[in-house]
Order: sequence, then structure tokens, then C-alpha cells
Amino acid sequence: MKPDTEAELSAECQVGQQPGYGDLHDMCNQTDIPLPYGGGLLLQRRCGCTCHAPKTDI
Ligand SMILES: [Zn+2]
Ligand SMILES: [Zn+2]
Repeated sequence: MKPDTEAELSAECQVGQQPGYGDLHDMCNQTDIPLPYGGGLLLQRRCGCTCHAPKTDI
């Protein structure tokens, strides 16, 4: 079990965090994938990278 505070980044965004690889953030399309018959469990969590954090227009 990982702590919720630790965001899981896709492979693209992990590389994209390195200097010079920022373009890879655009290639990331990791989203929530529900586990079939998983009762709400997720097979894959959406990428936690800040590059696609929901915009907060508050
Ligand atoms: Zn990213
Ligand atoms: Zn990402």
C-alpha cells in the first residue's frame, strides 16, 4: 500500500520531469481505469502529475 500523498506518475511524466524532456508530458494519457467487477477499485490510477491537474478557477 502506498500512501495517498505519493502521486503515481505515468512513465511519460516521470521522464517529462527531467530537464529537456518536458514534451513527454503531452504524451501522457494515463487516466483512471476501473477494475472490471472490482467493486469500485481501480486497475490504474490517473497520473498524478501536476501537468494535468484540474484547473482551479477560484
Ligand atoms: Zn506530466
Ligand atoms: Zn501524466
